[in-house]
Amino acid sequence: MTTYSGNCHCGLVKYTITLPGSIYEQDITSCNCSLCVRYGSLFVYFPKKEAKYFSGEGDLKKYSASFGSKLAHHRFCPQCGSYMGWQSVEPEASAFLPGVEGVNVRMLNDIDIAKLKIKPLNGLTGFGGDYEVGKWHGAEAH
Ligand SMILES: [Zn+2]
Repeated sequence: MTTYSGNCHCGLVKYTITLPGSIYEQDITSCNCSLCVRYGSLFVYFPKKEAKYFSGEGDLKKYSASFGSKLAHHRFCPQCGSYMGWQSVEPEASAFLPGVEGVNVRMLNDIDIAKLKIKPLNGLTGFGGDYEVGKWHGAEAH
């Protein structure tokens, strides 16, 4: 078991996560869904109970996005806008990956992003129930 600490840019949100081993042994997800490409996030997935928040969790702003009929809460620091990651929602029947939390590893301290085992995930069409982002292309761009 290895514990890592993370926080948002301004420090309001502080937490630790405990993984079965080194983060460099875990599959880190780089997802191409409509949200993740916009956030630029990289995820480690683990059971929600393995994340321990020391401050700021109650302050997080939530964006609820559904993939098909399955919901996830995407969570942000209300002060600095850092994207902390997503959590499954209750009740579990409507949750996207029940009991799971995906932490944005870009918020973790003292890790080397270049050494992570980053795996592509096809969330764009792989989650079922496509979400079409309203794409603004500008007056003349296309
Ligand atoms: Zn912050």
